[in-house]
Amino acid sequence: MRPVASLPAAQIERIAEAIDAAQTGGGSLPLPTAEYPGFSVSDAYRVQDVLRSRWSGRGRRVIGYKAGLTSRAKMIQMNVSSPTFGILCADMAVPDGAECLLDKLSRPRVEPEIALVMKPRFDEPLDNEAAALRAVDYVVPAIEIIDSRYPDYKLDLESAIADNTSAARFVIGGRLQRPSEMDWRTTGIVLLKNGEPVGMAASGAVLGNPLRTVVLLWQWLASRGGALGGGALILTGGACEAIPVEQGDNVCARFQELGDVLVRFR
Ligand code: MG
Repeated sequence: MRPVASLPAAQIERIAEAIDAAQTGGGSLPLPTAEYPGFSVSDAYRVQDVLRSRWSGRGRRVIGYKAGLTSRAKMIQMNVSSPTFGILCADMAVPDGAECLLDKLSRPRVEPEIALVMKPRFDEPLDNEAAALRAVDYVVPAIEIIDSRYPDYKLDLESAIADNTSAARFVIGGRLQRPSEMDWRTTGIVLLKNGEPVGMAASGAVLGNPLRTVVLLWQWLASRGGALGGGALILTGGACEAIPVEQGDNVCARFQELGDVLVRFR
């Protein structure tokens, strides 16, 4: 991992401005790590902080977080031991069964995810899975639609984090489930594209248990002086490899017990 060197605030602002523009209008960006030698993970999260305040200034509502690099294979590939985290805004949501417009997306991919909504209040530290379980209000199945603003997803850890971990859209569907009734490790998940299975997984593909994402998110926020808010939505991480989509594709993520999530791309 790179040193925790810090770029000057003006450069962080400049990177955030470029990423914000590419996320809003589509298009491609050079990697911050290529443009700014020494660009670190902590710099990348500073870019996210700037993005968040720019978005709040425009009236976008932050509603939660997403985790990336939650599979063992991806962690090994990127040489990391913990997930990355990004920010979710209310306007990234696409209704279940609706059309997702591709005009503002550059290279969209889909991945099925277990999503959680936290209880309005929880007071205990979420530093273990049992505590996280008590703090989850309900579980819902989801599709995350990611989009990299860098060409061909040729990205490194720092650049991906700065690009809000490729967050673009998400779809929540299926049925709500109580956390106590959830089979956290072996819920089966099938991703279908145009009716053909293109990905299969179990919920335990996410860090062994998606509740682990909640623990690591809580710890990560605490380490930065932040806090996980009541009612937050959490996309716990892709359960299988992200699949590219294009105009006309229909995608269905089918979750055992939790039901289907559908989206069509136009
Ligand atoms: Mg994801």
